[in-house]
Amino acid sequence: MMSFVQKIMPGPSCDEVMETLQAYLDGEIDDKQAKKVARHLAKCSQCDRESQVYSKIKESLAKRKQPVDPEIMAAIKQFSQDLISPN
Ligand SMILES: [Zn+2]
Repeated sequence: MMSFVQKIMPGPSCDEVMETLQAYLDGEIDDKQAKKVARHLAKCSQCDRESQVYSKIKESLAKRKQPVDPEIMAAIKQFSQDLISPN
């Protein structure tokens, strides 16, 4: 049943989600798109993790009290490496 629904109403791909992720977190996309992204994040652990990395970056930029958490730096580094070599 799920696969049939997914075939006729495909959600955004990971690539599409990645393209809109920053705008999504900044609240710069419309409700319809935001819901699609949110639905994808709920199902896709990879994109969900990346959205959490972005959120943490935004948080630390907003606070600006202390240097970026080394844990976040490691996550950013890992994220860039994933982009360069997806395998
Ligand atoms: Zn995804």
